[in-house]
Amino acid sequence: MPNLELAVREIAGEMRLRTDRGQVASYIPELARVSPQAFGLAVVDVEGNVAAAGDCDAPFSIQSISKVFTLTLALGKVGDRLWARVGREPSGSPFNSIVQLENERGIPRNPFINAGAIAVTDLILSGHQPREALGEILRFVRYLAGDQTITIDDAVAASEQRTGFRNRALANYMKSFGVLDNPVDFTLGVYFHHCAIAMSCRQLALAGRYLAQFGNNPSTGLPVIQPERARRINAIMLTCGHYDGSGEFAYRVGLPGKSGVGGGILVIAPGKASIAVWSPGLDKAGNSHLGRIALERLTKRMGWSVFAGQPIIGERP
Ligand code: GLU
Repeated sequence: MPNLELAVREIAGEMRLRTDRGQVASYIPELARVSPQAFGLAVVDVEGNVAAAGDCDAPFSIQSISKVFTLTLALGKVGDRLWARVGREPSGSPFNSIVQLENERGIPRNPFINAGAIAVTDLILSGHQPREALGEILRFVRYLAGDQTITIDDAVAASEQRTGFRNRALANYMKSFGVLDNPVDFTLGVYFHHCAIAMSCRQLALAGRYLAQFGNNPSTGLPVIQPERARRINAIMLTCGHYDGSGEFAYRVGLPGKSGVGGGILVIAPGKASIAVWSPGLDKAGNSHLGRIALERLTKRMGWSVFAGQPIIGERP
């Protein structure tokens, strides 16, 4: 069995030295202030061992990674009725594209593009005030991570609220098709705030454990969701978790993952481990550049892939 701690340490050391770091997201002004030099990596295996290195305890904006948790919550709330509002096919389009929505009568392709995640947030909001819905999302994330200190970065939320014109357009467009039940401003308020949850790699890897452990929270021994649902969420992460970079991510990393424009990626090795990486510089598709490279190295070394069952020795481009 390859040594996990050593692998994590070596990969973090290697990533620190690289000069190709991608571009930090700037369309949310507050995110543009983050240093591209940051790099963190944390892995929690199913035995509960934690291996972490670099800036693994520095909180960052999880952005779209929060969509994994809101999808889980919404499925718990409305069950498979959710799929009447959102599809589950890869989009092949940028994360904030409006083009598909017109052709598909306001039904977003999947729950991880912005339009789909806004529709999911709207389902969580129904029957609540925005503050209550947001409280429910935050409590859920804290429960999953076993960490009550996790909070929302209000400056990031306010920054996106001021500048999120594209998301406002998507939400209004869906509203015109009757896909959103709540006032657009309420739904977007909850959406911007859950995207602004700040977590470290360690906290995020801990929060992802239920997806690696067939729906169970190992801290409490209680099910979070049914194993079948965990399997399906993992499938959507694999096919849709990196926007129009999802195929490339599956090709290189071979595991379900969800990226965020804050530069984080949550990755699930089913039955093996939950992994979180953070490097703020993004590639053209809006996914962490070094994060993806680090994950490719780690998963090859550990033999973690849904497509192969053994470590891969030696590098090939
Ligand atoms: N809050 C961001 C947005 O809606 C999330 C995008 C992302 O992380 O990919 O644009």
